[in-house]
Amino acid sequence: MDNYSFNQIEEKWQKYWDDNKLFKKDEDDSKEKYYALEMFPYPSGKLHMGHVRNYSIGDVIARFLSMKGYNVLHPMGWDSFGLPAENAAIKNDIHPNIWTWDNIEEMKVQLKQLGISYDWDRELATCHPSYYKWMQWIFIQFFKKGLAYKKKNPVNWCPSCQTVLANEQVVNGACERCDETVGKKELSQWYFKITDYADRLIDDIDTLDGWPEKVKLMQKNWIGRSIGAEVTFKMSDSDQTLDVFTTRPDTLFGATYMVLAPEHPFVDDFVKGTAYEAQLEAMRQKLAVMSDIDRSATTLEKEGVFTGKYAINPVNGKKIPVYVANYVLMGYGTGAVMAVPAHDQRDFDFAKKYDIEIIPVIDPKNEDIDLNNLQEAFVEEGTMINSEDFNGMNNKDALEKIITSLEDKKIGSKSTNYRLRDWLISRQRYWGTPIPMVECDQCGWVPVEDENLPVELPTDVVFSGKGESPLTTSESFEFTACPTCGGQARRETDTMDTFLDSSWYFFRYADANNPDEVFDKEKSKYWMPVDQYIGGVEHAILHLLYARFFTKVLYDIGYSSVEEPFTNLLTQGMVLKDGAKMSKSKGNTVSPEDIIKQYGADTARLFILFASPPERDLEWSDTGVEGSFKFINRIWRLVEELKETVSRSCCVVQLDDHDKEFDYVINNTIKRVTDDIQKRFNFNTAVSAIMELVNETYKYKEIDKAKVSQLRKAVNTIILLMSPFTPHVCEEMWANVGHVESVYSEPWPTYDEKALVKSTVEIVVQVNGKVKDKMQVSVDTNKDVLEKEVMANEKISNAIGDKNVVKVIVIPGKLVNIVVK
Ligand SMILES: [Zn+2]
Ligand SMILES: [Zn+2]
Repeated sequence: MDNYSFNQIEEKWQKYWDDNKLFKKDEDDSKEKYYALEMFPYPSGKLHMGHVRNYSIGDVIARFLSMKGYNVLHPMGWDSFGLPAENAAIKNDIHPNIWTWDNIEEMKVQLKQLGISYDWDRELATCHPSYYKWMQWIFIQFFKKGLAYKKKNPVNWCPSCQTVLANEQVVNGACERCDETVGKKELSQWYFKITDYADRLIDDIDTLDGWPEKVKLMQKNWIGRSIGAEVTFKMSDSDQTLDVFTTRPDTLFGATYMVLAPEHPFVDDFVKGTAYEAQLEAMRQKLAVMSDIDRSATTLEKEGVFTGKYAINPVNGKKIPVYVANYVLMGYGTGAVMAVPAHDQRDFDFAKKYDIEIIPVIDPKNEDIDLNNLQEAFVEEGTMINSEDFNGMNNKDALEKIITSLEDKKIGSKSTNYRLRDWLISRQRYWGTPIPMVECDQCGWVPVEDENLPVELPTDVVFSGKGESPLTTSESFEFTACPTCGGQARRETDTMDTFLDSSWYFFRYADANNPDEVFDKEKSKYWMPVDQYIGGVEHAILHLLYARFFTKVLYDIGYSSVEEPFTNLLTQGMVLKDGAKMSKSKGNTVSPEDIIKQYGADTARLFILFASPPERDLEWSDTGVEGSFKFINRIWRLVEELKETVSRSCCVVQLDDHDKEFDYVINNTIKRVTDDIQKRFNFNTAVSAIMELVNETYKYKEIDKAKVSQLRKAVNTIILLMSPFTPHVCEEMWANVGHVESVYSEPWPTYDEKALVKSTVEIVVQVNGKVKDKMQVSVDTNKDVLEKEVMANEKISNAIGDKNVVKVIVIPGKLVNIVVK
């Protein structure tokens, strides 16, 4: 038999869904809402398998819940500002706008070919003025709330290309375009004060019960809140003081040296004209090309340079040397740390390397540890020693007391510190949202007035890849009138970090086409929060943190009804081939286009959903794809063979035991598939359950007493249960067995609890305690009837022979034992 013609079928139903706007949803108070959202893509040109996986997972959830009766919002759009479009402009002389929209066009066609149930009427693109107008409006709200400010900050600068480089354009310290060593340049840039929200962002993580633990932990670590003390150290040879932050004030008496970040403002003065100056410069050269993340890695080889200076430990007056080290970051705390080698492993390693004194101040009271010759830092609880008045206390108790004593002497205070920094949002790029601010000599920085939004990207820009910001090359853009005094003013020529665009798009979907407002509050209240958000774990830190931050600010200004945007989060695994992530550079990619051409979208979806649970990585397998295709064909043939039979009207008939067994399988499959999708997103086991039902149906139809009503029930159930996974072929089969409405409009099948109780039960029959036979009997068979049936069993009567039956022991539902003599 030929394979089913997926090409024709898929095209037919995609057109049907489009023409009938089947997935278009509006607010409807009579139904419970469900907001299913996949992270929107960057329009790079073609979908890859990671996209297919992401959207297929979302589509099963959206289609399933819609059939369960929810009013499901399932939108899609484009995160369409960004560097690749600009690079294409420089390289191929094509305007980013044209490049981007061509790509969107192409990817939209591919998404439709996958048959994902999107409400395309809510489509948005962040590069469209109708979207970035509201991005600019939001920026202004942040500015008005005091959450946006300007500050000087060094950027990566290629002296040869004469341009600012993004971190990802710096490869091993060199410009990716020309290989020149990258330097730094100070520029005045815009920041968002996300640190104002640090406590709320960290505290509310505990309310996110529907998030993976590992993502919550990553968020917490990124914010990095620690409670401790700030302590002031005096320099030994001047009145200068250094403030340090420590989470371990209990170890203060054990501080034997200090370490500064290479960027600390005191450092240059300290080493000027000394032998240490050149060493420090060499260290800075090395660090210039490293990210903060690399510098805080535990695997980093710790390196230090002595400054020739000493500080005074304020609690015991000891003179301690001051070092500069590669692992201390200016952005964390004060850029200066006190080092306690006896009780911190990093400090211990550093002290050993540079031969610095190690003074233990906490006694482990453990004979195995020689305090005078520590082999590693002791980081657990213990009793205070070498700490004057605090000796003998437990170190946890001493911690609070030492802080109080520092406060009394005015040399320190309790303090909370965060790893989180304010968010640098300026980009010296063209293809991003223009920052809607103008600078006037009289009035300073002034926001553009609402009626003049959007500030549109000018088209007369030169893409040379040179200069600070491409917008400065536009003759029409830079100069404007000051909104406040009307005098001549300059527009901001930087654009926004594209992470801003994706920090609120889920709100805009609720009211995507509103020209008058960022979104309608009532509509957002109906749809938000997102019930299920799905995307790659690579977005687990920044994107989710920024989205949470925006949501809280929108809540504070009265636009959001919720403080957290995503109730449940699913981070899907990667798609691997030959054990490695699919990537063009490795040459191990499989194009979704090719698979769709060869097998159809339903097969591509089914393979991806069946091969692995969503959170796990998925290994691509050609035989797995072939297997999925064969399975769809097996269902197709079953339905083709039975379609005449099952569309006949038929009488209600009495079910015999065999029919009841089959009825159990049907009901149990519905229960298993429903639970697997709803409770666990275990699509692979859901599909396995459907496969078993298909097998049982093949067997059942061969028995001549098979009932039409049962076959019809089985076929309908198979099609309905499969429809979230393979929607096109299910629509076709649903129509073929005589239904008029789309399978998507059908309610999800329910199961009958009663049918899940098995109708027969196996009874073990023994004679004198030895098993002679097993019998299937109806579960409601009473004692007397059971005894009669057993006695009528030929095997049993043979086993009894001519002996006398002394006693019959009956345990209903389990066992009959006949005692004979
Ligand atoms: Zn360069
Ligand atoms: Zn002015």
